[in-house]
Amino acid sequence: MAATSPGSQNRLLRELSREDYRSLAPHLKHVALSLHDVLVERNKTNHHVYFPLAGLIGVHTIFADHVSLDMVGKEGMVGIFIAAGVKTPHARIAVQGSGSAMRVAAAQFRILADRSGTLQRHMHRYTCLMLKHSAQTSRCNGLHTVEARLARCLLETSDRGGSRELRVTHELLAAAIAARRSNVTVAANALRFRNLIDYTRARLTIIDRQGLIKVACGCYGANATEKEK
Ligand SMILES: [Zn+2]
Repeated sequence: MAATSPGSQNRLLRELSREDYRSLAPHLKHVALSLHDVLVERNKTNHHVYFPLAGLIGVHTIFADHVSLDMVGKEGMVGIFIAAGVKTPHARIAVQGSGSAMRVAAAQFRILADRSGTLQRHMHRYTCLMLKHSAQTSRCNGLHTVEARLARCLLETSDRGGSRELRVTHELLAAAIAARRSNVTVAANALRFRNLIDYTRARLTIIDRQGLIKVACGCYGANATEKEK
């Protein structure tokens, strides 16, 4: 893929084999991501797979007693379940940070994946990375303090969205780190008091990234290192 191609901004597209990208390219459409756009509604038939180029997409997975939140940016894709043949995901997927993405029809993506072993392996590798990250995050949520988890989450979200300005509420952050909203507010106040972050109701800014790294648990380094492999 040419470095100037819009798709090159997404890591997964950039790392596709030349043959797989040639097959996929005619079906990719460059689309804008506007804040709060719903890309996939829970238990509705999904129609597209998204490769973000900029901005952030939130994957809200609904369980019986809680909702978890994962953020996806230009390092990944949304709709990986399509590759596994799942058409009605148990998740609601919405834009958490404006930007843009390359989009492909889910049915077309499955046709291409069925034809190409290298494309399938590429998607499987990404799935494994996501599962590993999820396991790391679950362990983190069970072991580390809310303040350390919040710092870790803010750094990861900033890395994925490529911005220190985050459009997140305390409620969203609570879902992302499996904490009570009130505890997130206490931790966020502590980070703000130390001039590491600032925020209004739904807009948070990382002021001192290095200071925030010192507060974050080691899971941030583990996850960041894994993303580079
Ligand atoms: Zn941790």
